[in-house]
Amino acid sequence: RRPPRSTPLYSSAASDVYKRQDLTVEAGDSLKFNASSLSVPSTCGSVTLNLKHGGKMPKTVMGHNWVLSKTADVGAIASDGIKAYTTSGRTIVVKENDGRVIAHTTLIGGGETTSITFSLDGLSASESYTFFCSFPGHAGLMRGAFTII
Ligand code: ZN
Repeated sequence: RRPPRSTPLYSSAASDVYKRQDLTVEAGDSLKFNASSLSVPSTCGSVTLNLKHGGKMPKTVMGHNWVLSKTADVGAIASDGIKAYTTSGRTIVVKENDGRVIAHTTLIGGGETTSITFSLDGLSASESYTFFCSFPGHAGLMRGAFTII
């Protein structure tokens, strides 16, 4: 008589679903995101942020991006973003390899969309995070809370 084959009740691959959360934020030809706060469950593995520019103005005039950082770093990142904008010939608004930036999209103008997928590894529900647009002059108004719940 053969020994019974051991069969797992369920596969661990199927039970450990690694979730990805999709978020969409829109802006137009004014200094305003359509969301003043965003939150994602801590059980999410990663987030895909879609940014849509529903306006008509070009990115050199009314460009938008979506940057995520600790709230305490927003001012310094925005300030370095203005320098990057100037030195890059108005093409980028985030300093290259800025370690304070958790995630950021490309800069877009009217009619364009962009997205960024990033991991929530290392982010904490007890930390204060802010999303903002780092186009020169926009961070003061285009910003909101990003919360891990
Ligand atoms: Zn903007």
